[in-house]
Amino acid sequence: MSQGPHFPSLLIDRFGRTVDYVRISVTDRCDFRCVYCMSEQMTFLPRAEVLSLEEIEQVATALVELGVRKIRLTGGEPLVRRGIEELVAKLGALPGLDELVMTSNGSQLPKYADSLRRGGMKRINISLDSLRPERFEHITRTGKLDKVLAGIDAAKAAGFERIKLNAVIMRGRNEDEVLDLVEFARERALDISFIEEMPLGRISDHHRGETYCSSDEVHAMISERYPLVEATERTAGPSHYFRMADSSTRIGFISPHSHNFCHECNRVRVTVEGRLLLCLGNEHSVDLREVVRRYPGDSTRLKQALIDAMEIKPERHEFNVDEEPQILRFMNMTGG
Ligand code: SAM
Ligand code: SF4
Repeated sequence: MSQGPHFPSLLIDRFGRTVDYVRISVTDRCDFRCVYCMSEQMTFLPRAEVLSLEEIEQVATALVELGVRKIRLTGGEPLVRRGIEELVAKLGALPGLDELVMTSNGSQLPKYADSLRRGGMKRINISLDSLRPERFEHITRTGKLDKVLAGIDAAKAAGFERIKLNAVIMRGRNEDEVLDLVEFARERALDISFIEEMPLGRISDHHRGETYCSSDEVHAMISERYPLVEATERTAGPSHYFRMADSSTRIGFISPHSHNFCHECNRVRVTVEGRLLLCLGNEHSVDLREVVRRYPGDSTRLKQALIDAMEIKPERHEFNVDEEPQILRFMNMTGG
């Protein structure tokens, strides 16, 4: 991946924010059905409605040529998309892109970790909400903890420079595992971020207001054992990081409810159907699939559509766990 010259930043919105980070959902499908992300019975999109790998590459190339420096591949589970290794290798070779990363549930990493690393991926996020096999199965509905633990080992063995765990903490479900998850990360020198559950999509498993657990509560639980010192460095993402005196592990908090991070938002998302989504908490979007399919190979039109889209990036999102979800998209469509 080039650390060399960058393209000038041309994606600047009405509030002066530069967009240099894009999350691309490469599939809506997944081998898990996490209770906060999906309903038990999901209908996935027909193939024709999903961007092809070539179309994803065109969109990614246009974005990088407009100044995007970091791309995260996500989903659904990105590793269940056939051809993902080839896509990673192609995007990993894009001049001007500093970082190609992925968020994965880890279940397929024993198979793919080496090829992702060879394709130029240096960092990976792996979701892990529980270390107890039965509870893990309950939260993911179809997942097996031992497979994910093997995936984490495979990522370590493949030599990723940084591996970060992501845990969505829910009251009454897994908030009693916060310290165990921190210990797990410390023992393996991994980073870990704790995520507040977001009201995306109508789910059947629980009322989100009941399970909501704020980052401040999680922070307080950890601080009782380890004093947390705010980290000075920033990453391109929404995590707010802390360090412990005796470990390389960084602890992050992603707090869409309690600490709104909109004022420094530098990112957009491309959904699995090729909609450019300007904000996770709003419906403002532009249909890029229409542009790539109507004008095949015309990167000028595609880039103009991306530049024009900056005009409709909303200033902020509002989430309220006590109301009916205003956002009916599920996270797997959006690319979490
Ligand atoms: N399947 C991959 C995984 O689970 O890591 C990537 C996609 S998943 C949608 C990305 C991240 O979003 C995961 O860490 C998951 O825990 C988180 N997530 C999903 N639904 C969420 C929700 N409603 N609120 C907060 N985080 C959510
Ligand atoms: Fe699949 Fe990730 Fe959603 Fe869980 S959070 S159902 S692993 S996409």
